[in-house]
Amino acid sequence: MPVNETVHQAIIQELHPQNVTLVAVSKTKPIADIRTLYNLGQRDFGENYVQEFVEKVPQLPTDINWHFIGHLQSNKVKYIAPFVHLIHGVDSFKLLQEINKQAAKSNRVINCLLQVYIAQEETKFGFDEAELDNLLHELPEKLHELKNIKIIGLMGMASFSDDYEMVTAEFKNLKRLYDKYAALSTANFQLSTISMGMSGDYKLAIAVGSNMVRIGSLLFGARE
Ligand SMILES: *Cc1c(COP(=O)(O)O)cnc(C)c1O
Repeated sequence: MPVNETVHQAIIQELHPQNVTLVAVSKTKPIADIRTLYNLGQRDFGENYVQEFVEKVPQLPTDINWHFIGHLQSNKVKYIAPFVHLIHGVDSFKLLQEINKQAAKSNRVINCLLQVYIAQEETKFGFDEAELDNLLHELPEKLHELKNIKIIGLMGMASFSDDYEMVTAEFKNLKRLYDKYAALSTANFQLSTISMGMSGDYKLAIAVGSNMVRIGSLLFGARE
């Protein structure tokens, strides 16, 4: 299936007035498809798999903002640290420490989102509220040393379900947590970004307060 340019334009027109950033999720899709959207002005792209990510990036223009949206293993951080723009799925303090270490080696500050577990399903990664409370309670002190990372927001995935009420409730829960922690502000913890919403549920997410959506199949067609 080709890239759907018409859908891209329509989504951009929908998101722009609401100040919502579109991350075009290009995992498993060819370079040519990414270029097609790039030529329409799209600059934020998201990938899930480290190996695929590092193979694609050098083949594409350098002014792309590359988002890593998958589950990131500590031992793979070093491969993406030189170029990644935003890491969405940070789900442990240990991972933050490793991102900090690799960012320092590249002389960069890497922006991160903490992933929060909001879905009913058991397969989703992320902090739950108690874990987040624990982490954020100690955070100002713990983060002080991590000068090469900056936590700029939260990310979550709703249940894969057509139960609108349940999905909306899950998104509302993430927004509530975002509001709860937004008052906390240190040199490297300043929330501005709430990454929630995918092809099937981005409208619900925006209605609840998302300002970054991650859309793949609507733009690029269904994946294998
Ligand atoms: C694949 C993926 C998306 C995009 O999913 P679509 O349903 O194709 O829009 C968004 N977020 C994450 C974390 C993903 O893994």
